[in-house]
Amino acid sequence: MKEYDVIVIGAGVIGPSIATAFARQGRRVLIVERDWSKPDRIVGELMQPGGIKALRELGMIQAINNIEAIDCTGYYVKFGNEAVEIPYPYKSVANTTNPVVPIWDVVHGDNDRLLDDTTISTKTWEEDERVRGCAFHHGDFIMNLRNIVRAEPNVDWLEATVTKILRDPEDPDIVIGVKAKGKDGELQDHHAKLTISCDGIYSKFRKELSPTNVPVIGSYFIGLHLKDAVLPSKNKGHVLLGDHAPVLIYQISPHETRMLCAYKSTKPPSSSNNEVYEYLRREVLPVVPKETLPSFKKALESKVYRIMPNQYLPAMKQGRANNQGFILLGDSLNMRHPLTGGGMTVGLNDAVLLAKLLHPKYVEDLQDYEFMTQRLDKFHRKRKNLDAVINTLSIALYSLFAADKRALKILQIGCFKYFERGGECVDGPIGLLSGMLPFPMLLFNHFFSVAFYSIYVNFRHHGLVGFPIALIEAFQTIFTAIVIFTPYLWNELAA
Ligand SMILES: Cc1cc2nc3c(=O)[nH]c(=O)nc-3n(C[C@H](O)[C@H](O)[C@H](O)COP(=O)(O)OP(=O)(O)OC[C@H]3O[C@@H](n4cnc5c(N)ncnc54)[C@H](O)[C@@H]3O)c2cc1C
Repeated sequence: MKEYDVIVIGAGVIGPSIATAFARQGRRVLIVERDWSKPDRIVGELMQPGGIKALRELGMIQAINNIEAIDCTGYYVKFGNEAVEIPYPYKSVANTTNPVVPIWDVVHGDNDRLLDDTTISTKTWEEDERVRGCAFHHGDFIMNLRNIVRAEPNVDWLEATVTKILRDPEDPDIVIGVKAKGKDGELQDHHAKLTISCDGIYSKFRKELSPTNVPVIGSYFIGLHLKDAVLPSKNKGHVLLGDHAPVLIYQISPHETRMLCAYKSTKPPSSSNNEVYEYLRREVLPVVPKETLPSFKKALESKVYRIMPNQYLPAMKQGRANNQGFILLGDSLNMRHPLTGGGMTVGLNDAVLLAKLLHPKYVEDLQDYEFMTQRLDKFHRKRKNLDAVINTLSIALYSLFAADKRALKILQIGCFKYFERGGECVDGPIGLLSGMLPFPMLLFNHFFSVAFYSIYVNFRHHGLVGFPIALIEAFQTIFTAIVIFTPYLWNELAA
């Protein structure tokens, strides 16, 4: 039997990325995926500029080429009848505070350069003074990533379902590979010095770290597919806010647009009694922009929708004594609310960081477990800046945008008014959300600036007569802001 340096479980977004990086660094890699055919899912369709940056550092940026990807230049946020546009950060700011640093041996030739295709113009990307993201069909993007990894000479790929993590019979704290079941039902063992599980949202192997390492479902997204939708602003992710749960809309190809409607419940809507249809008709239809209504109504009539859970899972420290030779990466390690489209950005940046820290010039022997623990401690520490910002922001914004009590509503209104001020009031928040400004203190400052601004807006709204009410609400608002924000930030930074 062949012994590999690394086995990667899963060829979604993160598996091919880390497998390619290790293979280009000269390691022998086996990547095991249960189904190599094109996935058809409603996840991972909008890539933030922070994810684009990571793809450049991985030398895999061309994975967004030739899939009719649509440029994304920022957000359009609609609140009732008002709207504000929030463009992505200036390159001059983003590239100086958080520059592209390619991984050694992994980036070569022009593999960190975007190419021209039917929807992407490199000239437009280069001449834009701001960073860009893009949106695409998840399945097409995955197939590009898979083609890149399969073309690597140091990579073997296998279609099989991993059923078990194998441990050394003489020392069960050490992981030595995987047991995998092929399409023919045959079980085979595969051995490696290091096993990396990128088995995604429903990870079977995250419990290897601890039986309590399980995500919490906070709400659901109902996904619709709009055809030839007209949106209020071109090349923008759209966020619709109001007295309803937030709605996201973004174009994913020249003729297709994704709509994700949040459903505020820890239980999915029932599909048996038209609950979804009624919910969309009652809650979402009235807030859809008028130019988008025709395509929305058609999508509604088709009654075709998908439902996905929105989960939160903070990352555990890895490389502990009982899990030597085993690492989780991507959604199996860490999840946040998809409202801010940050999952791929966090996962890809983690892949970049891990590949840098475990580069053979530092870690010659992947079985030097003492040293590996030190490197994984460093990984855990260094990833926190980006991960804490994106994860906390996603949860805090969802709480505000899905406001179901007065104090949250005050914060929601204040947040929108804060954006309307422009300047640093949008540059900071979008820098954080896009993954280009991974600075937790900046997030802290903006979040509490929003809280105090919300209180000020509420005082103005109540006027002199309503001063006593506004005063009581001020205390409730600041208390709510602390409760929805601080525990998550603390959890992300201190855990
Ligand atoms: C509703 C929703 C919308 C989202 N939208 C966005 C967005 O717009 N932008 C964004 O950045 N992020 C988004 N995300 C998050 C994003 O999809 C994930 O962060 C990303 O897909 C994680 O990549 P991954 O490789 O860890 O997992 P996945 O992409 O899920 O890949 C896991 C792979 O492992 C394979 N696998 C699983 N088990 C086994 C096994 N036992 N053996 C072999 N193979 C196995 C699976 O077949 C799959 O191919 C969204 C998430 C949700 C829920």
